[in-house]
Amino acid sequence: MPTPEATFGLPKSMLAARLDTQAKRISVERVPLPSPGPRDVLIQVKACGICLSDIHLIDGTISTRHTVVTPGHEPAGIVTSVGRDVPRWRAGDRVIVDSGRSCGECESCARGLRDRCTDPRIIGVDTDGAWAQYVCVPFECLCPIPANLPFDQAALMADAVSTPFAALVHTADVGPGDSVGLWGIGGLGYHAVQIAALCGAAPVVAIDPRESARSRALQVGADVALDPTAADFEQRISEVTNGRGLDVAVDLVGSNDVLRQAERNVARRGRIVVVGLSDQSIQLGTSEVFGIRKHRLLGHLGYSREDLETVASLTGWGRLDLSQSVSATYPLSEIERALAHLTDRASDVIRVVVSP
Ligand SMILES: [Zn+2]
Ligand SMILES: [Zn+2]
Repeated sequence: MPTPEATFGLPKSMLAARLDTQAKRISVERVPLPSPGPRDVLIQVKACGICLSDIHLIDGTISTRHTVVTPGHEPAGIVTSVGRDVPRWRAGDRVIVDSGRSCGECESCARGLRDRCTDPRIIGVDTDGAWAQYVCVPFECLCPIPANLPFDQAALMADAVSTPFAALVHTADVGPGDSVGLWGIGGLGYHAVQIAALCGAAPVVAIDPRESARSRALQVGADVALDPTAADFEQRISEVTNGRGLDVAVDLVGSNDVLRQAERNVARRGRIVVVGLSDQSIQLGTSEVFGIRKHRLLGHLGYSREDLETVASLTGWGRLDLSQSVSATYPLSEIERALAHLTDRASDVIRVVVSP
């Protein structure tokens, strides 16, 4: 690769992992450095997580409006330059980036109801993301990194921690004493266990067919860890909930088999929360059961800016422990190896991070 020319300390070009959505192929290319608009900041990316939804973006399960886009929605880095109308943020600030934002153009946004935006944008899907040396974002997306946290752990907060936080605290409304079952102890589930325990859930039931994932969950706050394929699974759920079933069942996998099993094991008035995404259609048991038991099925996506601040604070003060969350780090040039590591069923990953 030729060395980029520097202007005022910033290069004119950068390396970025570009996804060709037609060919479903990723390649690391040299592209022009993005130039921040008046309300944008340019961030030198120090770490960016790789999420299963990135895999779904690459394989076409999740669609984007672009034919070529730079993925990466879990970034942390250093502010390198700011647009002229950006308040307070300065070069050198260590930041996490909120990966979602309102469009600013729809009818809700025009009326100032940005949290009801009908066309929300996600960095790395709708705009170029952070599998690149630099990423350009509106300043409203920034959240400071607690001083005691390294970039790789901070990056995970932008999805792998904030998404289960919002799902459990807001969508599932988990409170003290709620019995909570968490299906899938991967990148989101590992943090969901800690968050459920922090909310006072009891028992916190971690559910994963992998023995290693179950023992990890027990180390960070799960009371019980169960194999969903075990013959006595439903009996064990009944035992630990005094025959009532779970108050909250969270599908962090995105699988209809998980949802059906979740529904069979929730209590009357139980909440079933869909966090994992896939293109499978949702089919539950009979509407008779669903209605008589007053089950609730709740979809979930993302988190709010405020949630990201809360998660950063909780992590900074040691209430959430991300020190074991980064399973491997790869340079940008090895993005394909990093993706293969994440999708390798045998690899037992919490989060794989790319460090451009
Ligand atoms: Zn994600
Ligand atoms: Zn909007």
